[in-house]
Amino acid sequence: MKKCPDLSRCGGCVSMGKPYPEVLKEKENAVRKLFAKENVQPVIGMEDPYYYRHKVYGTFYKDRKGKIHSGMYAENSHRLTDNTRCLIQHRSANAVLKSIADIAERYGIPVYNEDTREGVLRHAYIRVSHDTGDILLVLVIGSKSLPSSKAIVRELVSQHPQIRTVILNHNREKTSMILGEKEDVLYGKGYITDRIGNTVFRISSRSFYQVNPVMTEKLYQTAIGLADLGKDDSVLDVYCGIGTISLLAAEKCGHVTGVELNRTAVRDAVQNARNNKISNVSFYAEDAESFMMKMRDVPDVVFLDPPRSGLSLKTVQSLCTLHPEKIVYISCNPETQKRDIEQMKKAGYRAKTIIPVDQFPFTKHVECVVLMSNK
Ligand code: SAH
Repeated sequence: MKKCPDLSRCGGCVSMGKPYPEVLKEKENAVRKLFAKENVQPVIGMEDPYYYRHKVYGTFYKDRKGKIHSGMYAENSHRLTDNTRCLIQHRSANAVLKSIADIAERYGIPVYNEDTREGVLRHAYIRVSHDTGDILLVLVIGSKSLPSSKAIVRELVSQHPQIRTVILNHNREKTSMILGEKEDVLYGKGYITDRIGNTVFRISSRSFYQVNPVMTEKLYQTAIGLADLGKDDSVLDVYCGIGTISLLAAEKCGHVTGVELNRTAVRDAVQNARNNKISNVSFYAEDAESFMMKMRDVPDVVFLDPPRSGLSLKTVQSLCTLHPEKIVYISCNPETQKRDIEQMKKAGYRAKTIIPVDQFPFTKHVECVVLMSNK
């Protein structure tokens, strides 16, 4: 069991300091309580539950002595606390955040102040490939330009050769969003790749990709396993992101259609299909609800993996009107998932199996996969 030096200041990991098996049991019990009448299976946990976050953010700030740090906001507060010793973030990401703070200090780059909207360096966003160890680094600035950008990038890459691409992102808005709209690639190709099973995925800065790749593989295996796909089945993957579930399901079924609102993610999905030579898939950049409303052919299986807010009532209705035999609903927010499942039950579906997956060890969050069927 590891001890976090910043536990009392940060508060993000509500169960840090407890033995992991106990933490898992608590999460499983919480899911059993929420879905009291359903068939909840044992939680799937991690073998090594530390340093699992492969997507990491840092917000830069000055401490009382004027030293620059990378930090994150403490739970329910507007106080930044150093996050470079974090026990759940990937070690390389922690090291890169620390280097950026040190380099900013040496080059005299002022940190951005959200109140006065002055200064330069605002956030860093880091993605680490589980497969290759490669790093995508986005430096977010709140000014027009980053002084000494060439020298800074050169230094970062020489300290951390795993950094394969550096992107400069401009965010001058008063917002809690990390990334702004405008981006310039300073170094490398602007994306990295990761692998799940035998499939290689291209990840750009703006596309959604799961945080914990080890558990993502288990999550997708669980979801696809529950769907029990037949080789001629047609599948609809709603909220498909860069096409992860679609491309993994494609080898087991007849055809997959993926729907996703974010155009960059859809572009990545199309490219990912091509790069992996998978041809029985098609992707559409559209809103989930309106896409399902227009669909003529009823898919055999629908995968749903929405944002935390879950589905709108209209989206549930258009899904139920479509009336696929099986729905596999993946969610990182079991509360909204339960709400949506209750709606689906009204339309004749039953929840057959629920499997909790610990994608976020030590935090309060848990992911759930639910198999719904109208048979
Ligand atoms: N299944 C993917 C992505 C899940 S995250 C994976 O596992 O990687 C949820 C995705 O839903 C995001 O990519 C987001 O852009 C997309 N999204 C949000 N609202 C949407 C909507 N109304 N219609 C379609 N996609 C939407």
